[in-house]
Amino acid sequence: MSYIDTKYLNLVSPMLPLFKKKGDNLWNFRCPYCGDSQKSRTKARGFVFRRKADLFFKCHNCSVGATLANLIKYVDSKTYDDYILERYREEGVYRSKNSPVPKPEFKFNAPVFKKNVFKSLQSISSLSPTHPARRLVGERKLSEFSDDLFLCPSFFKFTNTLIKNKFSSLGGDHPRLMIPFRNEKGEIFAYQGRAFGDEKPKYITIKLDEDANKIFGLDKVDKSKPILVVEGPLDSLFLDNCIAMAGADFNNFDGDLTIIFDNEPRNKEICKQIEKTLKQGRRVVIWPDSMRHKDINDMIIAGYTKEEIQQIITDNTFSGAAAQLRFAEWRKINAQ
Ligand SMILES: [Zn+2]
Repeated sequence: MSYIDTKYLNLVSPMLPLFKKKGDNLWNFRCPYCGDSQKSRTKARGFVFRRKADLFFKCHNCSVGATLANLIKYVDSKTYDDYILERYREEGVYRSKNSPVPKPEFKFNAPVFKKNVFKSLQSISSLSPTHPARRLVGERKLSEFSDDLFLCPSFFKFTNTLIKNKFSSLGGDHPRLMIPFRNEKGEIFAYQGRAFGDEKPKYITIKLDEDANKIFGLDKVDKSKPILVVEGPLDSLFLDNCIAMAGADFNNFDGDLTIIFDNEPRNKEICKQIEKTLKQGRRVVIWPDSMRHKDINDMIIAGYTKEEIQQIITDNTFSGAAAQLRFAEWRKINAQ
């Protein structure tokens, strides 16, 4: 068996809910073909096991069987292309008769997302302590994350080097704080630029891969555990197992989600979104009336610790009828 097989099985594992290694050559997770049980969130009847030199998939619920290659292809076609290529390159050292791995199709025009998309930029942590960008990051209490936050001196110009003519004019170009969106492999597939000053809009999100869902935190999230969902990437950094949707639709993301909206009861758009989310039967955090700060970063700046915020979130997570009641109350009290 090739180490590449297990490497790629692990690479796609974030897309296989409840993924667990059960033995030397045995893995178990929820079947991606039938979705396993709709009623039970804990049922997992999909297995990858070894037969002779290769790994195969079998579901004990819907009985679908597949080679590892086809399983990878089914859950993530991009990873599949890499897998095929790597297996093909390895043919010199590894050759199994009747190998279930097809010859690769060499594809060009792949999207540009790579680990080194930001190689021309300086990380905030590498700037001198007196640099205004580093000072702002410090004031926002984001210093501990500054290895993966970057300074972009000319946001429009830089973006145009990655996506031709994204900005038709470089007039009004300005520096921005760069927040990379990384996929499960750590590659940058999108980024958000936050203005340092009053430039509008405050946040601009650029997708390098048009098909990607703008979710921040994919490189760190553990999908087998409950996941917190916030709107802003910077807010998400302060919470455990938290992703940010940055305007994307969380209904395209599979997992045990708790949705945290900003604390803005007077914001009609946010109220509409909370209502919609509650109708979907989701768990939602409705901030206590005593909370005066509008988002998690502001709470941190005001002196709340991560642990305190995590506790407030736990204590104020609602679903079903209780959520409807609490939401109506929150709206009324805070509208006064
Ligand atoms: Zn199945």
